[in-house]
Amino acid sequence: LFLSLEGLDGSGKTTQIDRVVDFCEHHNAAGVVVTREPGGTEVGERIRHILLEHASLHAQTELLLVFAARIQHVKVVIAPALALGKTVVCDRYLDATYAYQGYGRGLDISLIDAMTRLLDIPLPDLTIYFDVPVPVALARRAGRAADRIEAEGEEFFERVREGYWRRAQDEPGRFVVIPATGSLSEVGEAVDAALARRW
Ligand code: C5P
Ligand code: MG
Repeated sequence: LFLSLEGLDGSGKTTQIDRVVDFCEHHNAAGVVVTREPGGTEVGERIRHILLEHASLHAQTELLLVFAARIQHVKVVIAPALALGKTVVCDRYLDATYAYQGYGRGLDISLIDAMTRLLDIPLPDLTIYFDVPVPVALARRAGRAADRIEAEGEEFFERVREGYWRRAQDEPGRFVVIPATGSLSEVGEAVDAALARRW
């Protein structure tokens, strides 16, 4: 089973990973692999550094780097783990590309569709999207050092959130949307319930 977690920076998605992993470990004796994008491999983590720190990156370069890191990740980590019957839990994946590079940066969605198809990028079985209004996400992140993308303005993140909504609407069978404005334990319970329903 391949799970991805998505949400705005400050949605609490990374905080909820332990909860997801606990659940998966109880349900899959073959093991759980926890990974992230951009990153997840040595090459991918180096690409992540460029993506997050390089001051003048063209939007199309950003897109191609995200995909370069993803192919390496799929080939070296995700596909081999799934072949062994493991559960893969990925902190961000394909939908982030649609949300950030597509809707956020305004790149052509059909280009992302085409790359996904031509490169044979596997879809997750389940995607948990932690939804928070942009001002809530921004407030939660206050005081944390911002990377290059987190330094974008509120309108950028409104487009990103809109992008996630569209993805969730287009693929209701794969997505679970969890309102993530509540307390840690409220959101955690919603995560458990969603996993139990879809497992
Ligand atoms: O989720 P995480 O905090 O690891 O993401 C790192 C940064 O990369 C965030 O600022 C996120 O918004 C950005 N990102 C992006 N495009 C992607 C994936 C992540 O801009 N496709
Ligand atoms: Mg994070």
